[in-house]
Amino acid sequence: MNASDSNHFAIAIDGPAASGKSTVARLLAQRLGLVMVNSGAMYRAVTWKALGEHIDPHDSAAVANLLHRIHIDCGHDGISSTITIDGVDPGDELRCEKVNANVSAISAIPEVRAALIGLQRGFTQHSNVVMEGRDIGSVVFPDTPYKIYIDAAEEIRAARRKAAGEVDSIASRDAADSSRQTAPLVVAHGATRLDTSDLTIDGAVDASIEILRHQGLKV
Ligand code: C5P
Repeated sequence: MNASDSNHFAIAIDGPAASGKSTVARLLAQRLGLVMVNSGAMYRAVTWKALGEHIDPHDSAAVANLLHRIHIDCGHDGISSTITIDGVDPGDELRCEKVNANVSAISAIPEVRAALIGLQRGFTQHSNVVMEGRDIGSVVFPDTPYKIYIDAAEEIRAARRKAAGEVDSIASRDAADSSRQTAPLVVAHGATRLDTSDLTIDGAVDASIEILRHQGLKV
């Protein structure tokens, strides 16, 4: 399904780790009255579950098998997307060091992507969304006219992650996410690039709204 297949639209925001896309997406959702969907949280939740079951994240058959046994439920609480697996919200564990280190391996497995893309598209059955991730403009909603690719210099992104108190090797995650076979991180066709290296948060949100206006969104 694409933007035109339902009554609701999707704004796609993609980019590498710590580029500022979650912050921009959340503030856009607030300003424009949308649901903000953090698709990375979905890949993180599957990773958290696999690690909890002592499944090797590189064992695609075992991870695909896990997907058949679990129930993933996505929704939203106010403007933010929510996720539970078998009724449990992983909460802060989604951002722990172990999940950071293994999420790229899990997200490279085609069966995982196929399952989560269906859930991601499902959000537009009931809501207008701003969805952020790696393949939102290229694969999840390729036909949406509203696409932004957010980037920032690598040292700035690393400093942002450190300031947030997270242990996260963003360079190796970006390398894995950009080089995988299925749905690698790319600048989607029709996306406008925005470099947030020298922008304040408000500046990045204002620039994003300007881009979306240019792309035809009535805001
Ligand atoms: O956005 P975040 O850094 O939380 O994403 C965590 C990981 O989930 C990424 O490094 C990537 O491996 C995966 N991901 C993905 N496709 C998306 C969103 C996230 O492969 N649309």
